[in-house]
Amino acid sequence: MRKITILRINHRHFRDHRISTHVGLAARALGANEIIYSGEKDEALLESINKITAKWGGPFECSYNPNWKSVVKEWKKNGGKVVHLTMYGMRIQDRIKEINSDKSDLLIIVGSEKVPWDAYELADWNIAVTGQPHSEVAALAITLEKLNSKSLEVEFKEAKIKVNPCEKGKDIED
Ligand code: SAM
Repeated sequence: MRKITILRINHRHFRDHRISTHVGLAARALGANEIIYSGEKDEALLESINKITAKWGGPFECSYNPNWKSVVKEWKKNGGKVVHLTMYGMRIQDRIKEINSDKSDLLIIVGSEKVPWDAYELADWNIAVTGQPHSEVAALAITLEKLNSKSLEVEFKEAKIKVNPCEKGKDIED
């Protein structure tokens, strides 16, 4: 299976803390291998993602790199491909076959408030999940599901806690 890494660019410590956390949690839950945060350094953000992985299982890597462009360039140098999620891109339903037939490791760039032009230029695919403005978490979740039909069936290793499905109430295995 190819590796899928999320690159969250231009994170802002206070304004984006919650949504950047959710980008990481959605990435992990839906089977991505790793998230790299760029922008302002936010130790608490890395800590909360790592805490979830320690409790709910992995593997899932989480790290910070101040230079998002060097992450993208290194990724491409190593033969990986890059998807940039943007409402201005090509419709995901029209390009998903092409992306899925390419077995290279995939870096998915998710923006914050302002996305630098270079992200559009460096990407192999600029991809829209509808042409409407919405949320990076929604765009990422739909993209991960379309990239991997097993994204709702991910098995987590070394979990200390697990939820068993139940009709009503909560069934938690500790
Ligand atoms: N105004 C910003 C810009 O310069 O494009 C985007 C702000 S948006 C809240 C933050 C991120 O959510 C975007 O960079 C993109 O990654 C993602 N996003 C939002 N709507 C999207 C859509 N319809 N399709 C794909 N990605 C989307």
